[in-house]
Amino acid sequence: MTEELITSWLRQQLDEDERVAQPAYDFTCGTDDYFDVYYMAVPLQVHANRWCPARVLREVEAHRRILAAHRPGSDPCDAHDASLRTIECETLRLLASIYSDRPGFRQEWAPE
Ligand SMILES: [Zn+2]
Repeated sequence: MTEELITSWLRQQLDEDERVAQPAYDFTCGTDDYFDVYYMAVPLQVHANRWCPARVLREVEAHRRILAAHRPGSDPCDAHDASLRTIECETLRLLASIYSDRPGFRQEWAPE
């Protein structure tokens, strides 16, 4: 159950990332280097270009593939508690930790 909850919640976060990144990607025609506006300090330009919409979309796809490999009941990590009950694996908790500032994140998902 909790494994389904974390994967469902993670899919929602990825959908939201895609919802925001896709229009920006379309606007820039998929270029990876377009932040050179004069009002942005160089370190911020470098950072923004590193995490451009194209990269965000690539990360969304990669994380969706990781989630696809973690279907409830078929987690390749095979994480269990002391009662042999299936629990969220470290991989899913690490992915969830990326979004720890978003509503719905549960402290029990924080990586150890
Ligand atoms: Zn796993």
